[in-house]
Amino acid sequence: MDIYCKKCALKKGHPGIQFDENNLCSMCNGKMKREYSKKDDDIINDYQNFKNRIPVKGTEYDCLFMLSGGKDSVYMLKKLKKEITGRILAYYHKHRFDSDASFQNIETILQADDFDFISYGSYRKHRELMKYLILNCRKKDSPALDDECIPCNTCHYYFIATACQMAIKMGIKYVVHCGNPRQMRTIPANFKDIVKIMLETIDKTLLNEILNNQLDIILNTDDDNLPKIIFPYSEQINEYDGEKIIKELTEMGYTPDSMVTLCHIFPLLEYYSYKNYNCYSEALESAYWVRQGQLEREAFIQLDKENKKIILEIALKETISQEEKLFIKNHAQKLFPDNPLDSDAFYNRIILFRKIADDLGILDEILRIEKITDAQI
Ligand SMILES: [Zn+2]
Repeated sequence: MDIYCKKCALKKGHPGIQFDENNLCSMCNGKMKREYSKKDDDIINDYQNFKNRIPVKGTEYDCLFMLSGGKDSVYMLKKLKKEITGRILAYYHKHRFDSDASFQNIETILQADDFDFISYGSYRKHRELMKYLILNCRKKDSPALDDECIPCNTCHYYFIATACQMAIKMGIKYVVHCGNPRQMRTIPANFKDIVKIMLETIDKTLLNEILNNQLDIILNTDDDNLPKIIFPYSEQINEYDGEKIIKELTEMGYTPDSMVTLCHIFPLLEYYSYKNYNCYSEALESAYWVRQGQLEREAFIQLDKENKKIILEIALKETISQEEKLFIKNHAQKLFPDNPLDSDAFYNRIILFRKIADDLGILDEILRIEKITDAQI
């Protein structure tokens, strides 16, 4: 039976978390403080240095701006254009699992404002990467906090790495990443460190291939000659307000809601998290809200139980019954009580579980792991 922390409802066994004899988790009993790999001052200084930069002669752009189509990058691109006099090249890593809402947001911002724009994406390489990540868990003895999100985090690092490679090709010194405070504090500002983190989770041959056989060159180049990753949200590192950003963008005609713009691989990430770590990918976030008194502990436990049932028992079925569909719909409404768009987006992603697994080329393998045969469906 699952055991939940008495205070925040994190589940016993969550990566990086220990439980004491009173069933309090190490985040609640004060034995663990979340350590971030970077200092706030360094993140802020790096960004200030960029703002005070001296434009590099002979290059067309001052920065490559990573545009994902989600709320943070769309909002910041508009803001940055007003604030810096620099020459911005908006960059989008195209992949087949991105949401229509993200594409639409990118279209809208490109039409509304006059940005130079470039996109890159190898569907094949991205597919190989995701296939590998979802089927290969990093089975370490003492997993780190966030290990339940490795496929998502590593995919994110891959997009940053391709942005850095594009920047090198175009002689651009800065890559702008619109990470939220947690991302700013954990994502390295240095291209080489990004690649080193990827090496911890991906087979070296595969990593070299998806980086266009540049792995050794990257690892052997001085940091000064590689692009620097900077985080414009560092100016609001302690006052970041995602809800405010969503509200403003909605008023401007964008669709910035979180689930609507989320990538379609999401249910497979949930599958990975439950299968390897018995938790869903947002569990740390939810536990935080429970500690803050903004989410009821019992409600969180109930959501986790329902989510687990949906991901491990229902989503993989070839035919999902009407009753099961209703169960997913009700669950989605509980997750997003005030947001029918997000709730519908959650439902639609779950229903597409098999199709996405098939697109990634891992459906047969998952059915084999789950021992699902046609006779059982
Ligand atoms: Zn706790």
